[in-house]
Amino acid sequence: MSYGIPRERHPISELRVDGDFENGRIEVVSVDREQKVITTRVPDDDHTQNPQMRFWQMRLTGVVPGEEITIRHTPSVEMHYVFSYDGEHWQRFAEPGIENVTHAFEETTVYIAPNIPYPYSRSLRLAESLTENPFVTVSDLALSEEGRAVKLFRVTDDAVEENEKRVLWIQGRQHAFESPSSFPPEGLLRWMSSGDAEAVEFRKWVVAYVVPIMDVDHVFHGMSGKDMPHDFNRSWEADPCPWNAIAAVKNRLQSLKQQGASFLGFVDSHDPYFVQEPQWYVAGSSESWQQFDRCFVDAVRRAGGKNRHGMDLEQPILSVPPADTQRGRDFAWSLFQEVSDFLALTLESPHHKDSDGVFMTEEGYLQWGEALGRAFLNYLISCN
Ligand SMILES: [Zn+2]
Repeated sequence: MSYGIPRERHPISELRVDGDFENGRIEVVSVDREQKVITTRVPDDDHTQNPQMRFWQMRLTGVVPGEEITIRHTPSVEMHYVFSYDGEHWQRFAEPGIENVTHAFEETTVYIAPNIPYPYSRSLRLAESLTENPFVTVSDLALSEEGRAVKLFRVTDDAVEENEKRVLWIQGRQHAFESPSSFPPEGLLRWMSSGDAEAVEFRKWVVAYVVPIMDVDHVFHGMSGKDMPHDFNRSWEADPCPWNAIAAVKNRLQSLKQQGASFLGFVDSHDPYFVQEPQWYVAGSSESWQQFDRCFVDAVRRAGGKNRHGMDLEQPILSVPPADTQRGRDFAWSLFQEVSDFLALTLESPHHKDSDGVFMTEEGYLQWGEALGRAFLNYLISCN
């Protein structure tokens, strides 16, 4: 019924913006359908106020392919934001920043985010895809505060006795906004459970434990997960521990120690927006740093990879006995410091360009995980 009121004319599908999907979250300020201008901002319901540490993801529907759309999003930082037509395959905007970007998209639906998203459901699909793999054991490390499973992958060749092996722990995404930090753990897991000749060797010598996403709840909601007020990576000393996933990692590391496990490495994968170059932090003493500098850096170089992140050491690297164990790497180092070649590391992957200025891609981040595995193999062979 129209009651005589003229119906507004709408195109068949009109331009819309939303964040109502997994890992999505956006505040829509306005959508000017005449001028094709979308104005959005990061919702305020996030504890993190630093614009460089805020995650969000939006979906545009009703886009006319080939027609220019302007996106005005705040806050914007100097990095190359990403877009996708299916939420799976991502490309970067050519220009940095997103406060005023005009782009002619090629499909009717477009996803936009600060960096390549790695949603919670990806960790579940990863678990499903590896259940039949004879070298991988999938379990739930913990249930999150909201009841989501934190997936833990153990990968090794069980034909070799466990007590003859070294242990490597790699985890990502203590900070939910650092979406690419989940890819290196997945890349290491995929490589180590594959038929690659070096992977076959590596899993005879090493038991690896892989956690792609620590803070599953904030990742699920598309939130930043920093300063909440209990930052995941400042909560390792707190008693009681405010986060189930961290309490579970601490328990697992402590029980592995009691079982006599010989730890080779602990890698905490991060990917903040405030450093562009790759950056390593080495926990422990100056001996730890020397071990890293003398052997591991070269082992990383020889491991290769498409994106050369992690190869150039651009930033000062911390290496003093930690004053506390609030951070994961410092907790791990304090637990296993008597093992002379043990390395407790934080890797800050570059967020949009590698050391050569090449755009970071999903494949590049995954390959970096593989390179990390090969690096630890080189390290085992060359430095012992
Ligand atoms: Zn971080």
